[in-house]
Amino acid sequence: AKALGRSKFAYFTNDLRTKVLREQQVQKRLRIAIENELLDVHLQPILDVNTGAICHLEALARWNDSELGQVFPDEFIPVAEQSGLIGALGLQIAKKAIIYTQYLSSVQNKPLNVSINRSALEFELLNGKLDPLPELIAELGFDPCQLCIEVTESLLLKKPEMAKISLQRLKEHGISLSIDDFGKGYSSLSYLKHFAFDNLKIDRSFISDINNNKSDFILVKTIIEMAHNFGMKTIVEGVETKKQLDAVLSLGCDYVQGYLLTPGLSFEKISDYLKEYNP
Ligand code: C2E
Ligand code: CA
Ligand code: CA
Ligand code: CA
Repeated sequence: AKALGRSKFAYFTNDLRTKVLREQQVQKRLRIAIENELLDVHLQPILDVNTGAICHLEALARWNDSELGQVFPDEFIPVAEQSGLIGALGLQIAKKAIIYTQYLSSVQNKPLNVSINRSALEFELLNGKLDPLPELIAELGFDPCQLCIEVTESLLLKKPEMAKISLQRLKEHGISLSIDDFGKGYSSLSYLKHFAFDNLKIDRSFISDINNNKSDFILVKTIIEMAHNFGMKTIVEGVETKKQLDAVLSLGCDYVQGYLLTPGLSFEKISDYLKEYNP
């Protein structure tokens, strides 16, 4: 038993060492990537089910490093948060997303909207300082009405007073707000009455089994009704099959997003996709 304990411990420390080394490596390369503006943005369409048109895109950070290869946001976003890089990362993603959307809007000859993800920590780090986002939008000549910020519930639960002020300022600039991953994690409903969200995004964990699981179906139905009663539009995320699409359409959601339409696409690919989709 003693030997087993020791080897388990050795296994654990090795594991931990590997993890720490990887984090240090990712942090080092990420800093270089941000300094050289090497992060890229993929855009995923959000379909308006009432018109059948795509007029909204979600910006998803992408990073293909020359040494590490493709690193995914679930790994590098936490590293950016821990190392103080998240603010610079957020602005770089915002800038590219806006420039892409401006180009796509002009090609499509209609104003497209774009959603940008912002982690709770980005708001916390601002800590009452002026939010650089409205200035960036103005510099780029982008209409703030075309911009939407997606935040998760953790922001609202951790720092409700600060969140309220920061979000209110963005709204005053004409920027829209979405509550992301709704229903995942904590879910305290009381904050909904304190914050003026335009859209509520239903987490994809409710959708994956919606055709077999009656509870999920009822939850999605209830969330959509509640959102509408609060004057919010609903976006259903993670729609992967036609059957899932039919289910959420029957429940009256406003927008859908997911692999059934397409995953996030590079700038070149989204250009072609939109040309075919909204001719
Ligand atoms: P999220 O904001 O919930 O974004 C949706 C994630 O689900 C994306 O993963 C997207 O590629 C994926 N997805 C979209 N449709 C489907 C589907 O039908 N099925 C499945 N299984 N997945 C789908 P991604 O791009 O890996 O991003 C993961 C998370 O990383 C995002 O979750 C978001 O929280 C964060 N993230 C991504 N880009 C940024 C960013 O620029 N800033 C910040 N702060 N966070 C970001
Ligand atoms: Ca999101
Ligand atoms: Ca989400
Ligand atoms: Ca998420």
